Amino acid sequence: NAGIVVAGAGQAGFQLAASLRESGFKDPITLVGDEAALPYQRPPLSKAYLAGKTDQEGLFLRPPGFFAEHAISHRPGLRAVAIDRAERRLQLSDGDSLPYDHLVLATGARNRPLPVPGADLEGVRQLRGLADADALKADIAAARAVVVVGAGFIGLEFAAVAAARGLAVTVIEAAERPMARAVSAVMGDFFRGTQEALGVRFAFGAGVTVILGRDGRATGVALADGRELPADLVLVGIGVLPNGDLAAEAGLPAENGVQVDAFLGTPDPAISAIGDCARFPTPFARGLTADDTVRIESVQNAIDQGRCLAARLVGKPAAYGALPWFWSDQGPHKLQIAGLSGPGDDSVVRGSGNAFSVFRFRDGRLSAVESVDRAGDHMIARRLLAAGTPLTPDQAADPGFDLKALAL
Ligand code: FAD
Repeated sequence: NAGIVVAGAGQAGFQLAASLRESGFKDPITLVGDEAALPYQRPPLSKAYLAGKTDQEGLFLRPPGFFAEHAISHRPGLRAVAIDRAERRLQLSDGDSLPYDHLVLATGARNRPLPVPGADLEGVRQLRGLADADALKADIAAARAVVVVGAGFIGLEFAAVAAARGLAVTVIEAAERPMARAVSAVMGDFFRGTQEALGVRFAFGAGVTVILGRDGRATGVALADGRELPADLVLVGIGVLPNGDLAAEAGLPAENGVQVDAFLGTPDPAISAIGDCARFPTPFARGLTADDTVRIESVQNAIDQGRCLAARLVGKPAAYGALPWFWSDQGPHKLQIAGLSGPGDDSVVRGSGNAFSVFRFRDGRLSAVESVDRAGDHMIARRLLAAGTPLTPDQAADPGFDLKALAL
């Protein structure tokens, strides 16, 4: 019995393995991961870990003993390089290959490179893994002026940590506000204000043309409008690309992620994909994308897809229909998002000041709720969205309307 082989030992791959054992799966499980560390959580890398508030052990999803105790073979530092679908074998970077009954692609995503001269200078960094975070921690200790390219979640979380350490931080963003693809204008503007209160400066509608350097080290960035900003550290956070190459090279559809069906299976019945690398259909994407499929980069999605696929592999198949939710910590504020919204969705604000929620509506239906420091709203929103409970924009805006009662 060859059992289940998982390519990628991150949040999704680990969850699948753990859930399989919880469900009584007895055959071999092998987790092949190209990183050196035990499976770990990434969110703290741009938050508590970067800020020195938690150590490496605090990142691990389970202690080292867990893997042997649960007969999960974790093979660190090893890359899956090709799939032989006819023979059902996964080829590895050390020249060996592993047979599988079922192969799970859980290879995550990689950072999108910044296509400008100077991007390879020392002092230019990206943040995806533990090794990146360790290097950045050392850089922050030595740097004075930081330029962050990209006002997405990771760029802003990094900016907040760096500003709190007293560094001069400028965030450069092509759009006109932060997190423009992910949240409403109201929420983007709020976080602009909170970041500015931390001392972060912004250049919106701006593009980097060159990273300037001397003796192989970054010294600043040049913008398309002619400005030059000094920097001894440049953090590039301009989004990710899914790791779908293994699937594509094996002849499976993998445009913007490994394409899977509602059961997270590829067209090859012996291969599935989960987590950041997978593009899947979900009712929550209705009206958002042309074919109602999405790729979601979140812990929730990685965990829930790991669980969903484990259930299918032990004979309890169910379509994946979990509600997407997400969080981001920036300075003193916590942003929580339930559901999936698009830039065209309408926005209705509930609450005021530093604690409020933005209810998003698409085609008159609640699509997402963004909350800042309103954990109660977030939990209610998750229930409403998961159940598909109707809510009107007027009800959402009315502070007297009992949302909690509606969600019960
Ligand atoms: P990963 O956890 O990335 O795991 C994939 C693994 O596969 C990696 O170890 C990779 O190196 C390995 N791999 C790739 N190719 C191969 C190969 N060919 N062979 C072997 N191994 C391979 N989400 C939230 O919900 N909230 C947050 O606040 C949040 N903050 C984040 C902060 C940072 C800095 C980052 C990077 C991500 C954050 N995320 C957050 C996103 C979240 O961490 C990811 O969505 C989640 O880790 C996805 O899990 P995954 O298993 O699909 O991918």
